Amino acid sequence: MSEFRTGLGYDKHPLVPGNQLVLGGISIDYFKSLAGHSDGDVLLHALVDALLGGAALGDIGTFFPDTDPRWGGIASQFFLEEAVHKLKAKKFEIVFIDGIILAEKPKLAPYFPRMKEKIAEIARISLDRISIKAKTGEKMDSVGQENAMASFVAATLRLD
Ligand code: MG
Repeated sequence: MSEFRTGLGYDKHPLVPGNQLVLGGISIDYFKSLAGHSDGDVLLHALVDALLGGAALGDIGTFFPDTDPRWGGIASQFFLEEAVHKLKAKKFEIVFIDGIILAEKPKLAPYFPRMKEKIAEIARISLDRISIKAKTGEKMDSVGQENAMASFVAATLRLD
């Protein structure tokens, strides 16, 4: 009988002046960037933590510590690719991914289809197994004040 598990991931990065906003593995035309050791992609970082968490394999920092110069400026899709490999090696199948991006601006809904395609491609799952939503910070806190973006992701895994 299959066993189902749910992993939860969360991440938050500061927004700084720049033009390198990467979310969900895609580049978004915007006048700010997410600062971080890697590209700061909060959605992919939260997703990696959800996947690793569901498999009880630790978290993104376990495998890709931000003190390691190898991961400086790296595209976060590499972390997702590695997490997918680790799950596969442990016989976990990704059943469903549900993510929220917390961002005051810009409007992100137009980018969801491309984010889903990117994640589907890397995770090797169909598009109907991926949900992405966005919420603002209602002008409150660091998200609402446009100083940060954050993300929560829940991932359901099946172990046969
Ligand atoms: Mg991060």
